Amino acid sequence: MELSDNEELDSAGPGTRIVGAGRRKEWTGAVVNPPVWRASTHLYENTAALAEGPRRNEDGRFFYGRRGAPTQWALSEALTRLEPGAAGTVLYPSGVAAIASAMLTVLRPGDVVLITDNAYDPSRAMGKGLLADMGIEPRFFDPLDLAGYEALFCERTRAVLLEAPGSLSMEMCDLPALARIAREKGAVSLLDNTWASPLGFQALERGIDITLMALTKHVGGHSDLMMGSASAGPRFHAKLRQRAQQLGIVVSPDDAALALRGLRTLHVRLRQETESALAIAQWLSRRGEVARVLCPMLPGAPGHALWKRDFTGGCGLFSFVFKGGDAAARDRFVDALELFGIGYSWGGFESLALPIEPANYRSRMAWPPEPVDAADCFGVRLSIGLEDPRDLIADIERALKAWAQG
Ligand SMILES: *Cc1c(COP(=O)(O)O)cnc(C)c1O
Repeated sequence: MELSDNEELDSAGPGTRIVGAGRRKEWTGAVVNPPVWRASTHLYENTAALAEGPRRNEDGRFFYGRRGAPTQWALSEALTRLEPGAAGTVLYPSGVAAIASAMLTVLRPGDVVLITDNAYDPSRAMGKGLLADMGIEPRFFDPLDLAGYEALFCERTRAVLLEAPGSLSMEMCDLPALARIAREKGAVSLLDNTWASPLGFQALERGIDITLMALTKHVGGHSDLMMGSASAGPRFHAKLRQRAQQLGIVVSPDDAALALRGLRTLHVRLRQETESALAIAQWLSRRGEVARVLCPMLPGAPGHALWKRDFTGGCGLFSFVFKGGDAAARDRFVDALELFGIGYSWGGFESLALPIEPANYRSRMAWPPEPVDAADCFGVRLSIGLEDPRDLIADIERALKAWAQG
């Protein structure tokens, strides 16, 4: 009997797929995980094999270190097996590198790219910097306004960058509708699916052309590696792979092995973090110090119906805004937390808190969101980890006292 990757895996549940995906016998040998293959030079048997090397450009064929080795292939294949509709997955040295490389795959000078107004800030900066410098025009849109979005398309619109829920502010949009409109207009849709991962949103099956992840977050899961991925069907996968090779993009086998280790527990961590985040979000929503919890997983919250309709899971990341107060009070709250680290990033096993100022990173959408009072604009983003939610709530309760006592 073999636990390794096989066709039957595709019909199994997500946990079973996560355990088996990418574990081909030819890559693992007699052990459970593929060893770390540190390789630049692949040695060939003879000159005939050498000549064959460059002819077949595909994972699983040795050529040269830049095209990867079994450790990277195993990770790439595992991610592909978790993404229904994917023909393959390209790995990048960070999430931002995945977004940039995918943009450079589908865009040409003279094109227009539509970017969701609540995108991860480096994605916005990429539009206004790298892409604008190359003669590509970024236009930002409110993803909650489908008519306004549709009206922004023109002859030159080549691609749309989506992200849900929105970075920091967590708005949930109608992803299948946004993707369908893009397709009708002849534009390529890209989704930053870092929040949900393919376990929570099956992007390609819902009409997205290219789905991107910062593996740095949930897949790594232990706050000790940087990596990104792009998965797509056959047409876009071939283009992504070609562009990544032209840009010289490769990830280290050591990091790929770490990402594979993280991946094997992804479903269990996400399930627990979702459960804890929901309990904490619910608790926060009943507190007088809190004007609004920004969490589409929370029943009754804006976007909850869309999340329930389209998503099969969530994660531990959400935000909230205080009822009044000021930046100093908000920072007192964050500084008083003992179980939450203060830091960027998220998706690790440990909880984090981050003061947020979404007003600085948007040009179309209101902050705070309607119908929240304009005075209630000081927010915090929490990344809930694997600590006991009871302890996290006690910590937050203590920090709320610091918020109130100026
Ligand atoms: C962190 C993050 C990225 C970028 O990932 P890096 O690996 O840090 O470059 C992209 N998108 C989202 C939504 C993120 O949170």
